[in-house]
Amino acid sequence: MHILCSICCLHQKESISFVGMKPTIDSYMHKGLRKNLVQTIREKGITDEAVLAAILQIPRHFFLDSAFDKVAYEDRAFPIGEGQTISQPYTVAYQTQLLEIKPFDKVLEIGTGSAYQACVLAETKAQVYTIERQKKLFDQNKQFGFLKSYPNIRFFYGDGFEGLPTYGPFDKIIVTAAAPNIPEKLIAQLKIGGVMVIPVDEGASQRMMRITKLTNGNLQEEKFDQFTFVPMLVGKNNL
Ligand code: SAH
Repeated sequence: MHILCSICCLHQKESISFVGMKPTIDSYMHKGLRKNLVQTIREKGITDEAVLAAILQIPRHFFLDSAFDKVAYEDRAFPIGEGQTISQPYTVAYQTQLLEIKPFDKVLEIGTGSAYQACVLAETKAQVYTIERQKKLFDQNKQFGFLKSYPNIRFFYGDGFEGLPTYGPFDKIIVTAAAPNIPEKLIAQLKIGGVMVIPVDEGASQRMMRITKLTNGNLQEEKFDQFTFVPMLVGKNNL
């Protein structure tokens, strides 16, 4: 695969005011913009039809402040508050495609953020367990009515480095923040034959990696393109 660099973080001090208003109307204009977005990421190399159908289905502007209504379908990351971002749609599609989700796969996501990635996984029929370390973002998602349409997503406030040992093992694990290394506790929560997709620090950017736990317990590592994510941080943040 060729090297692409897609920026999916914004500077932490970005000064954008959030009025806490998320749009709830999915107009023909939004649907049209979404179709164009799907075409864009198809042209960038996404081929998994289930992933493309999920992106076509989900109103991404619902996940953003109404100030972003007109730009929500650009293939870009946007701020979601607390210095965090909703990932670029291409990045979401790329990671989901690498996971090769099968219906009813039990998937652990580290870094709920806006919950957009979690919804893409849920649309591809996964059973999703998603963890967020920022209490404010976790609480915002509790108020976000659209998420009620996905009973196959369970939300957790916690430190993703710990995973969810009581709910594991998982068929798939996806990390949506820049990991300093491959967390051993997450590997331990992967089923035999399970797959983890994780962007691992490599200097200023991250290398997308796919780790497969083989039958003998060994790990097979595959390396893909470079991306830029917000950091995966240790511990919870309740401020
Ligand atoms: N998947 C998200 C992308 C969010 S950006 C989306 O679709 O919008 C990465 C998220 O990871 C941020 O919300 C950040 O707070 C969270 N994060 C960083 N380190 C974490 C950790 N150790 N455990 C859980 N979440 C973490």
